[in-house]
Amino acid sequence: MFGLMQDWPLLCHRIIEHAARCHAEQEVITRSVEGPIHRTSYAQIHARARRVSQQLDRAGIKRGHRVATLAWNTWRHLEVWYGVMGIGAVCHTVNPRLFPDQIAWIIDHAQDKIVVTDLTFLPILEQIAGRLPSVEQYIVLTDNAHMPDTQLKNAVAYEAWIEAADGDFVWDTFDENTAAAMCYTSGTTGDPKGVLYSHRSTVLHTLMANAGDSLGAGASGTIMPLVPMFHANSWGIAFSAPSMGTRLVMPGGKLDGTSVYELLQAERVNYTVGVPTVLQMLLVHMRERDLELPDLRMVACGGSAMPRSMIKAFLDRGIGVRHAWGMTEMSPIGTVGGLKSPFQDADEEQRLDILQTQGFAPFGVEMKITDDRGGALPWDGKTSGHLKVRGAAIAKAYYRMNVSILDDDGYFDTGDVATIDNHGYMRITDRAKDVIKSGGEWISSIDLENLAAGYPAIAEAAVIGIHHPKWDERPLLIVRLNEGKSATRDDILTFMNGKVAKWWMPDDVVFVDDIPHTATGKIHKTALRDRFKDYRLPTPGA
Ligand code: AMP
Repeated sequence: MFGLMQDWPLLCHRIIEHAARCHAEQEVITRSVEGPIHRTSYAQIHARARRVSQQLDRAGIKRGHRVATLAWNTWRHLEVWYGVMGIGAVCHTVNPRLFPDQIAWIIDHAQDKIVVTDLTFLPILEQIAGRLPSVEQYIVLTDNAHMPDTQLKNAVAYEAWIEAADGDFVWDTFDENTAAAMCYTSGTTGDPKGVLYSHRSTVLHTLMANAGDSLGAGASGTIMPLVPMFHANSWGIAFSAPSMGTRLVMPGGKLDGTSVYELLQAERVNYTVGVPTVLQMLLVHMRERDLELPDLRMVACGGSAMPRSMIKAFLDRGIGVRHAWGMTEMSPIGTVGGLKSPFQDADEEQRLDILQTQGFAPFGVEMKITDDRGGALPWDGKTSGHLKVRGAAIAKAYYRMNVSILDDDGYFDTGDVATIDNHGYMRITDRAKDVIKSGGEWISSIDLENLAAGYPAIAEAAVIGIHHPKWDERPLLIVRLNEGKSATRDDILTFMNGKVAKWWMPDDVVFVDDIPHTATGKIHKTALRDRFKDYRLPTPGA
């Protein structure tokens, strides 16, 4: 027997329709890419998003077509998201921090038809446009006054483009399993993998993000997502804020300590969300000038582990902390930290112990830890195992990749290694892969090794992450030279320069006589990490 309730498909554009109706005047404030602070409302964003839809429709964009964005967190980016999703097209957020070759590969793999870009990223697109045959038009998120000369195909300033529409356009209702958005994630090996979110998974994830212990700020609060919309949908904030009528502050492209502090302070922000590197820059700025943020109630931090010292620094300033863990494949929320009722009166050290875990799963995420053969391990807070997840907003496959990614029970292997305690608090103990996390972004050790190995005097190269106080980790290149050959650190770095993104470049090179190997002939990264555990990088601040 079926229930007798209404069939109301879970569609992303209903979120902004709801915001426009119930929170029409609620503000969305942006530090614009052009400079000035810009103010708008959910009602205006909704109206302009429908103009975006109308123009996309006129340009021949149909359900299932992909529209890429290379853009910061701004009101215009939000309008484009909802405009694309409202006609059943797929909003593909591209991470502009990737190396241009990867960006070209990703746009070509997704077969994006239109690329919407901030002014900041025009030089990248101009460099790779010849390799993007699927792209029919470029929309530049600015007005005619700021529109530069560009040879990009059919390039037009966004403001002029939507000006040509009257907004008299009705969004459709369609199957909630229709694709809404996509985001590529890159690991240590192989090509980037496309995660394809559906309207249903995104709306359910939004409700998870809004839950009491999660990232939600409610209609009385103001939130500023420091995590970019191209990094797993700004952890869902671009959906969750309008769904709750939260006042939204967007930082644009400026994430340095001074700019972030100014905006938090001037707009009296209550909640913010970001990776440790960005939050560290904020803390340094505040510490050096003895500044406070009396309105800031909560900081949620994820992307990499939040150091204990950072948790304490926020708590000491009267700011609550939520440590979050997740993945692009999980939309991305996996766990969010907070003190459950038994720990409300715990002493400071115990509270820090709990807040330092990555938290517990919201309803909608199921976790298990397993041994190497897939056997379930106990939730005792001590036994660590492969962390696997299933749920309403977790990927079951990658876009255009014919490989199975779930186990027999439908769980996805996160590649992380973790413990879970009897209260459900999860703690990441290690990374199964050897990827280097720098400033919340990934650097592939294997790509760097392959590149360095191309230098004639090098016999073998290995790259490991070395702790860095600002960027979390930075790459160290370890090389063994061919017999009788010589090379300096500068020779090798000059050779690599320009062949990878600047921020991927190793911070230092060390020369060794021998690189250890495992029994199966792979470079023994654990042994190398152990050997270089006391190594200090020559970088300023390291
Ligand atoms: P991404 O898909 O780029 O968001 O990266 C997901 C990966 O980042 C996870 O599989 C973890 O390895 C790592 N990660 C995310 N959040 C945390 C955290 N709070 N602590 C430690 N690692 C994290």
